[in-house]
Amino acid sequence: MSQPKVLRVAVNAPLARLFDYLPPRQPADLAAASMQPGARILVPFGRQQQTAMIVDTAAESTIPVTKLKHAVACIDPAPLLSDADLWLLRFASSYYQHPIGEVIAAALPANLRAGRSLSPVTKQLDTTEAGASVDLDKLLKRAPKQAALLAALRANESLSFEQLDERIDGWRRCYKALLNKEWLTVSEIAAREQLPGKHLVHAGPPLNMDQSAALAAIRERSGFQVHLLDGVTGSGKTEVYIHLIEEHLRAGRQTLIIVPEIGLTPQLVTRLEERLGQTPAVLHSGLSDTARLTAWRQARNGQAGVVLGTRSAVFVPLRNAGLFIVDEEHDNSLKQQEGFRYSARDLAIARAKQLQAPIILGTATPSFETVKRCDDGAYQRLSMPVRAGGAAPPLLRLVDLSREPANDGISSVAISAMDKTLRAGAQVLVFLNRRGFAPTLICGGCGHIAECSRCDARMTVHLSGNELRCHHCGAARAIDSVCDRCSGTYRPLGHGTERLEDTIRLHFPLHSIARIDSDTTRLRGAMNRALADATAGETRILIGTQMLSKGHHFPNLTLVVVVNADQGLFSTDFRGAEKLAQGLLQVAGRAGRERQQGEVLIQTAYPTHPFWEELIKGGYEKVSANGLEERSRTAWPPYSRLALLRASSHQKNLAQSFLESVKGKLAAIDISEVRVLGPVSAPMERRAGRYRSQLLFQSVNRQALQKLLQDLRNSLEQDAGARKVRWSIDVDPIELF
Ligand SMILES: [Zn+2]
Ligand SMILES: [Zn+2]
Repeated sequence: MSQPKVLRVAVNAPLARLFDYLPPRQPADLAAASMQPGARILVPFGRQQQTAMIVDTAAESTIPVTKLKHAVACIDPAPLLSDADLWLLRFASSYYQHPIGEVIAAALPANLRAGRSLSPVTKQLDTTEAGASVDLDKLLKRAPKQAALLAALRANESLSFEQLDERIDGWRRCYKALLNKEWLTVSEIAAREQLPGKHLVHAGPPLNMDQSAALAAIRERSGFQVHLLDGVTGSGKTEVYIHLIEEHLRAGRQTLIIVPEIGLTPQLVTRLEERLGQTPAVLHSGLSDTARLTAWRQARNGQAGVVLGTRSAVFVPLRNAGLFIVDEEHDNSLKQQEGFRYSARDLAIARAKQLQAPIILGTATPSFETVKRCDDGAYQRLSMPVRAGGAAPPLLRLVDLSREPANDGISSVAISAMDKTLRAGAQVLVFLNRRGFAPTLICGGCGHIAECSRCDARMTVHLSGNELRCHHCGAARAIDSVCDRCSGTYRPLGHGTERLEDTIRLHFPLHSIARIDSDTTRLRGAMNRALADATAGETRILIGTQMLSKGHHFPNLTLVVVVNADQGLFSTDFRGAEKLAQGLLQVAGRAGRERQQGEVLIQTAYPTHPFWEELIKGGYEKVSANGLEERSRTAWPPYSRLALLRASSHQKNLAQSFLESVKGKLAAIDISEVRVLGPVSAPMERRAGRYRSQLLFQSVNRQALQKLLQDLRNSLEQDAGARKVRWSIDVDPIELF
């Protein structure tokens, strides 16, 4: 390996291009392995030094050598990322039109981004010459703790912080005094690697016919293949995953499992531990930086046979990848909605294809995109329509709110069904995807509605904190009591989970009730405690938002009440029906999982809306078949590809006129294969003080769209007008506004 002449480096900055540097000057840093693609390097950038990554090397630069700067120092003794890892990052950067440096930064744990060492490090103390000649007897009289520490170090030469913790009480309180006297030095050393925990292996339940058939079909194909494991809640998808993971483990290969943020439950981790005999390396945003780095390292060096993580885990390096699994593949949270807007599912598929490995997409309600890929024959669809153990699917029933008025949000039909269920000793889940006490505060005198001063949105009433909160920007203020327009009195209008809890407590004062939403589970561990109580059966009535609808299994739950699903019926989003059906079936899946059939009551003021017949009589298959037919007629995805250019500014109309000028410039180039729609302002134009607009691009030709977006991105980076607004490109957007 010879030393490269020019290093092509990605810097964490909003610029798409690479930057050329010469190797560092210091001879100590000239190890060739430290200067290969995938290794980090410290470079001068602007007025600072930055940790950057070498993406490429070259014999020469387009910039004259005299103008090139030297890198400051190498960081890694060998590349952190393999060629395959770098390929994924470069692919993601170009497909999602996001600067490579920011993509790499998003893929690395914080400690590595900051330039720290990959190997585990700890600190140790040594005595200096001065420290070695101190009179310990004298010191003992003045400062006995300091003397004890110094004596221990003199007897052992050096001790790590962990060794000191074991031997000397309270040493951390006094060692700084000794450092100040220059009797000690502190230095960083390599720490022992912590290995993933080992557990006893428990046998699983016998497989049913559907599970065995799915496994056989997956095993039949070697190399890259996308398999859709289309199984209703409770059909035993996890059991299929486990059998496949076991096979790959035996062959020495790793499995990467990606789950939505909310689907990563302690239940799943425990189950994998018990069945596979080893703790998966877990990666999610709630971990400490050190824990994340440890998991990342164990994935990279192959110590972790199973890696389980949320969205960004799709980028984790794997020494010997064998299998990819994306659970709840339809879930919107697999697409990042800000900054670097990537789909973890789609990147996992690209990665599996690159590595010629199989990938399983698991869900009870596949996205319409995935259904179409199956219909086209590109993906293999494996159906598991029956709950494992033969339990009957939950019964969906509508409650007509035009005949059964819902006092305080919940109808008498629902109340009596709850009563019956509770008498039978079972649990009830009341689902309402709206937190707070009421979504609106209205003046009884003049009808004035309390609004956020920074958004075009109403304030939500939160009685517990006695305040109004904006769910879009987080602004909060005390509840207005008297209207300053007419001196009338304000009253809350509509229902959120907080108000629903009050109502239900009035009806069922003797039962234990838990509300689980992001307001009640803000403290670390609160969610897990609440779920543990519910699983143990201590909580009889659960009230919650979609936080409660995913992943978690309540063995004694037989009734679900959906308080209000009507907003979804009239959504302007072309994905409205798809999302509504997915959300409803997901929450319905909580009902009646073991011996007893569950029931789902859906309150609606529009029982004759065609969506209900489609869902109740035809199930999700009917909803997706009809939905795809409509999309094919209207040419929405998956029958076309979309991308959005979003812009926002504090000044009204600036974003809109910026997008108009962008559209004007596009007229000069050939965009015959791409439709450009807009610009239009977002339905909620002002959010957190910024006015928002967008331009929509639509094409059936992916290459044509990609080419246009790339040209657009390059020209916007040079465009002075673009600096006056905040803009972003969203490829395959989930939210159109
Ligand atoms: Zn008023
Ligand atoms: Zn707001």
